[in-house]
Amino acid sequence: MAVLMKGAEAAAGMKEPLLAEREALERLCVDPKLARASGKRPTLCFDRQDGLSVASGAGCARLRATDTADRPNAALPLGVRKLGRLAVVRVGAREDDLAYERGLMKRFESLGLAVQVVKLPEEINQGDFDAEFERVNSDPTVSGVLLFRPLPKGLSDEHARQAIDPRKDVDGMSPVNVAQVFAGREGFAPCTPSAVMELLAHYGVSLEGKNVTIIGRSLVVGRPLAMLMLAANATVTVCHTRTADLAAACRGADILVAAAGRPGTIGADCVTERSIVIDVGINMGRDGKLCGDVDFGAVEPLVSMITPVPGGVGALTTSVLAKHLLKAARLQS
Ligand code: NAD
Repeated sequence: MAVLMKGAEAAAGMKEPLLAEREALERLCVDPKLARASGKRPTLCFDRQDGLSVASGAGCARLRATDTADRPNAALPLGVRKLGRLAVVRVGAREDDLAYERGLMKRFESLGLAVQVVKLPEEINQGDFDAEFERVNSDPTVSGVLLFRPLPKGLSDEHARQAIDPRKDVDGMSPVNVAQVFAGREGFAPCTPSAVMELLAHYGVSLEGKNVTIIGRSLVVGRPLAMLMLAANATVTVCHTRTADLAAACRGADILVAAAGRPGTIGADCVTERSIVIDVGINMGRDGKLCGDVDFGAVEPLVSMITPVPGGVGALTTSVLAKHLLKAARLQS
């Protein structure tokens, strides 16, 4: 029987480190006005090595937030400001956006992170949408911006992609972050490919020297995931609708990732007993229930590890989003 790779288990494993990170950042991101109002003089402490993490003991420089309040932020080793929130920009009220939003609110609440949903009417025109996005993007109390896509027909996300501050781009849509991920450098990858990497790491699956086949070449999932896998020293094959022999390409893989958006794309003929199968697909089955791209009933008895849908990669993306928000807050502090 295959090992079930559950997103909730990986998310539970991420919780403590995320809470610790939030607390560390909150201790660093002290709003001097709040500090003055409360009459307290908080002490900031920074690690000389990375200038970010809270540390104590010898070699740790100490600053008083009230002393540094008048200096420009750039001159500070740490930002002296409040930990900003995530702004979610939603146009209209698509059911899948609302479902993701509910999961996100729950996860962020459990981590003590603030979220603001900016709801825009479905009939908003391009100019007004662009202006609203600009307003959210430039708000200094917002550390991360998530735009639900695709936008309704008639609206383009091009302005938003170009305009978003790359340091607030928690779902990796700006050309700057796309380029960073493709260059194998530190940046923001979209949350779903990052969640695949987190899931594999949680279950102790090494990518070094492994053959990986990814089905799907979209900019949101397939391509960035291929780059993250390459950066982890895997040998990567990317398949798509024109791939000549999909089953053969899949059988040759140690790790198979399905991101086609079509139920039944992966059947028993695509796997071997050593296959590790990650199903990114989220589809509505004929029976009205959520399903992935993998024929789970046929494939699960044949492989070594597999993710369920629902309950696999999708259950991890909001934790990755939280991780990205904290990283964004650090970058801006
Ligand atoms: P997309 O439609 O943009 O891209 C699908 C890709 O799959 C294309 O490159 C296409 O060439 C390829 N493809 C489609 N059918 C194929 C087939 N039969 N054989 C080989 N290749 C095929 O979709 P996307 O945005 O990349 O999303 C893919 C799936 O992942 C969807 O089901 C989507 O709902 C899901 N998704 C899940 C999450 C998550 O958090 N789990 C997040 C984003 C997307």
